[in-house]
This record gives sequence, structure tokens and C-alpha cells, in this order.
Amino acid sequence: MDKIRVSLLGSTGMVGQKMVKILSSHPFIELVKVSASPSKVGKKYQESVKWIEQGEIPDRVREMRMISTEPEDHKDVDVVLSALPNELAEGVELKLVKEGITVVSNASPFRMDPDVPLINPEINWEHLELLKYQRERKGWKGFMVKNPNCTASIMTMPLKPVFGLVSASRTFITTLQAVSGAGYSGLPFMAIENNVIPYIKGEEDKIPKEINKMLGKIEGGKIKNANNVIHVTSTRVPVKVGHMGVINMELKEEIDVNLVKKSIEEFKSLPQLKNLPTAPPRPIILRDEEDRPQPARDLNEGMATSVGRVKIEEGILRFVVLGDNLVRGAAGITVLTLEVMKELDYI
Ligand code: NAP
Repeated sequence: MDKIRVSLLGSTGMVGQKMVKILSSHPFIELVKVSASPSKVGKKYQESVKWIEQGEIPDRVREMRMISTEPEDHKDVDVVLSALPNELAEGVELKLVKEGITVVSNASPFRMDPDVPLINPEINWEHLELLKYQRERKGWKGFMVKNPNCTASIMTMPLKPVFGLVSASRTFITTLQAVSGAGYSGLPFMAIENNVIPYIKGEEDKIPKEINKMLGKIEGGKIKNANNVIHVTSTRVPVKVGHMGVINMELKEEIDVNLVKKSIEEFKSLPQLKNLPTAPPRPIILRDEEDRPQPARDLNEGMATSVGRVKIEEGILRFVVLGDNLVRGAAGITVLTLEVMKELDYI
């Protein structure tokens, strides 16, 4: 099989390093170029990065010379992966796509654009169909695909099977988000040690919109977003990796809790059916213990989320979901999105 040659923007950040690590052993996606901030262009990767991942920097990447984000540096790759800061991504990614380059990105600009697929592979791989119309509607020469906000991607994992089974008048989500979600330099130790911060800028607005886009349907070549009423309270907690959500749904009709558990536990999608390399065999691990899932114990090597505390009380369905914000929330779904794009001949 021909390998997909990719370059990586933001390769020295938290998400970028996770991608470098995942791609180092990938069977058909090859990382051939790395980029970070302009002052590092021309330097070796190993001199440019504060490596914080477990283990050593992969051999192939260690000696790579850093390139810029400009299109001419990315002409000879199949896809550009982006882990750029949100505020930079819009201009850089648009320039690449206009020059005919395909970009798969973790950053927030264009996530809610109706012509741009927002992909969490198990949840809405079908939305890649928007790519058939994107070039014409946007006048771009390349493709743009987005991955969702880390919390939205983790929350949609159980919400997809559960919304397939029940109707809820309102859904309330309280998040407990890890410090790594703010990036390597995002939050000073003094601000979060021994503390909880009950506010994360932009999250409470973004998460319901992104969930409803991912749970939407393609009709006549257009995306019709779902209209679930979802209220989010976002908090930052002193945990290194692992975003948790406490979810309460006001049910419109009664349902047996065992049916809900079954729908969560048995959930599978195209990545599992096609046995794609980074697809977890079970995307959601259902836990029955009363004190699980926990970030220190249940990150499941990243791609599988964990759900526990599932119960129904007085018409309220309650459960807790946990996922790895750097893998299921970012780097891992970017790689799995690429695998799905290859499987469906979009690359
Ligand atoms: P990060 O740790 O702050 O890394 C940012 C990366 O961007 C670094 O490689 C940095 O390079 C590079 N960069 C900074 N300024 C640049 C410039 N002017 N030109 C080119 N490159 C530049 O951030 P992160 O947590 O990895 O997040 C990256 C993206 O993923 C963000 O858009 C974020 O919203 C999104 N995301 C993050 C998470 C998460 O859990 N952390 C989850 C989902 C999505 P230097 O090392 O040279 O500064």
C-alpha cells in the first residue's frame, strides 16, 4: 500500500508531540516534515522541542529540520496535519487549502462552517461526504477537515448511542477538564495546584454547538445540525490528562437502564468494522464499579473512552464519561480521521 506522506504544524506542542509518537509506528501514514514557530525554522526537531512524551523522541523525527507553515514548504506531502494554536490557525490553514493542500486540523476556526466536516470518526465519519461539495462551494483547491474540541469529542462518544435510544428534553453536562487541555504553557502551576477553576473561556458555548454538529445528518449534500438542548458548565481540575463529563439527561419517556448500558457497551462504528489500525476494538468501555472511571486508571491507552455510574432516577438518566483529551480529544482522532479518509478514498 502507498504510504500517506504528512507534514505536521505545531509539532512541538502537547498535541503535536502526541501525533509524532502515534505516527512513529503507523503502518501507512508517514510523518515526513515537522514545523513549529518561525524562530525554529532550519533547526533539528530534537533541538526545537521540550519532549514531554514517555520514551525517547522517535529516531526518524529526531534529526528532521523544522520547516515553516508556508504552502511552498508543504507542496510535496499528501496531507498537512495541524496542531497550531487557535489564533494562528485560521490564516495559516486557509492559505494552505487555497493553494490546493489538504489540511486535517485540531484548531477551532472553521469547525462550525457548514461546508467543513467536523469529524470524530466513530460518531460521524459519514460527514466526510461534505468534501464532495467543499471545493466548489468554497472556491478552495484543497480540502479542509476539522477535528472537534477535546471535550466535545469525548462527550459525543456515549451521547451518540444514547441519543439513538432516548429522547431528552434537556441535557446538562458538567466537565472536569485536565490541565493539559490548555496546552503546554497554558496554565501556571500556582493557578491550579490544590484548586478548581469553575470557568474555561469559550468552552460552554462551543461544546453544545460542536456536539450538535457532530450528531447532525447529511441531507442533500448539506449538514443539518441536531437540535438537542445541551447546557454545559466547564471546570478546570488539577489532573494532568483526562477530561471527565458528568451528564444528566431529562428523559421524555421511561426506559430500562439496562438497555441504555447495552447501547453504550455495544457501540461500534466504521473504524471498528474496517479494523483500522488505531481504532480501539471497543470505543466505549462500560464500568460497573461505583467509583470508576478515574483519570488515573481509565484512560485505556487513549482512544477508548470510559463510561460509568449509569443510572436512572426520577426520569433523569445520569452517567460519567472520561477520555484522554490528547488522544481521543486531539492527536488520536486526527490520525483515525486520516485512516477513514484513506479507507473511503478521500486521499
Ligand atoms: P501547545 O502545546 O501550546 O503547542 C502549540 C504549537 O504551535 C507548538 O508546536 C508551537 O511551537 C506552535 N506555534 C506557536 N506559535 C507558532 C507560530 N507563530 N507559527 C507556527 N507554529 C507556532 O498547544 P496544544 O495543546 O498542542 O494545542 C494545539 C492545538 O490543538 C490548539 O489549536 C488547541 O486548541 C487544539 N487542541 C488541544 C487539545 C489539548 O488537549 N491540549 C485538545 C484538542 C485540540 P513552539 O514550540 O515553537 O512554540
